[in-house]
Amino acid sequence: MGCRIRIVRVQAGSDVAAVTLSAKRQGDSYVLNGQKAWIAQGDIADCLIVIARTGEGPGALGLSAFIVDAFLPGVSHTTLGAIAPRSWAHLRFDNVRVPMENILGKSGQGFIIALDILDRFRMTVGGAAIGFSRRAVDIALRHALQRKIYQGRLLDLQMVKAALAKMEIALSASSLLTAQAAWHLDHGRTFAKYSAVAKYFATEQAGKIVDDAIQILGAAGVVAGSQLERLYRQIRPLRIYEGSSETLLMNIASTLDAHRVQHREDLQ
Ligand SMILES: Cc1cc2nc3c(=O)[nH]c(=O)nc-3n(C[C@H](O)[C@H](O)[C@H](O)COP(=O)(O)OP(=O)(O)OC[C@H]3O[C@@H](n4cnc5c(N)ncnc54)[C@H](O)[C@@H]3O)c2cc1C
Repeated sequence: MGCRIRIVRVQAGSDVAAVTLSAKRQGDSYVLNGQKAWIAQGDIADCLIVIARTGEGPGALGLSAFIVDAFLPGVSHTTLGAIAPRSWAHLRFDNVRVPMENILGKSGQGFIIALDILDRFRMTVGGAAIGFSRRAVDIALRHALQRKIYQGRLLDLQMVKAALAKMEIALSASSLLTAQAAWHLDHGRTFAKYSAVAKYFATEQAGKIVDDAIQILGAAGVVAGSQLERLYRQIRPLRIYEGSSETLLMNIASTLDAHRVQHREDLQ
């Protein structure tokens, strides 16, 4: 389709099924009314994937996904500023008329589509976290090599070495978990749990890695406008969108195999 697409789940936050934006059938169209907060690319997207309440059933069963042209009459946005540079906006839909054929999949399947998109995107957020982390590790290592201290280098100090080693271990584990999720997706296997694990681990570790890198730089790590300051702010939202860390932990816990251990006498 060649357009910038953004997913709009509408006012639900962590409670993905609690969508309020309504889509009422009128002849061959649906008419969308409501709003959505915190949409990445909301002010530059050409196409929006909008999850709206069509009412086929209660809660999660009454949602549908629509492909919506962002330039249709009635679609408007308010641009937001984030702690790290990015396109971000609140969206409004006032009597936006969308042709029936713009339903993605079937009506009533919006919740499944929203979850499927989230499952796919989570590992990509893990990938972004790895990129930010790698930059932070490289900055810290270079500084530790160059900084002269106690008639040697900062890197010669055992605790600095240990800190860098732990950063490298966390980064390697993040990379392997993200690759594992991608491998399961590429091989047509069930991948949702692996994607959640990768996103949780890589984004949580990235926050710690960037913080540890700042510690290794000392005062030089807290200079306004420095690369580490940018990384510090850039990494933070990753633990909130595409599933916050807390909701991911709940998802992962729900995949634990209780049946496997329930009747095992040897585990008592
Ligand atoms: C940069 C950015 C871009 C975004 N882009 C999009 C987008 O393109 N499309 C879109 O639809 N949304 C987008 N969002 C919104 C994002 O999906 C929500 O912010 C996220 O789902 C959390 O919802 P909330 O902000 O309403 O927080 P809430 O749902 O109010 O949660 C607040 C806090 O409570 C925690 N919490 C929630 N449930 C539980 C629980 N059961 N147990 C313990 N803690 C819990 C959460 O983890 C969070 O820490 C974006 C957000 C950000 C920051």
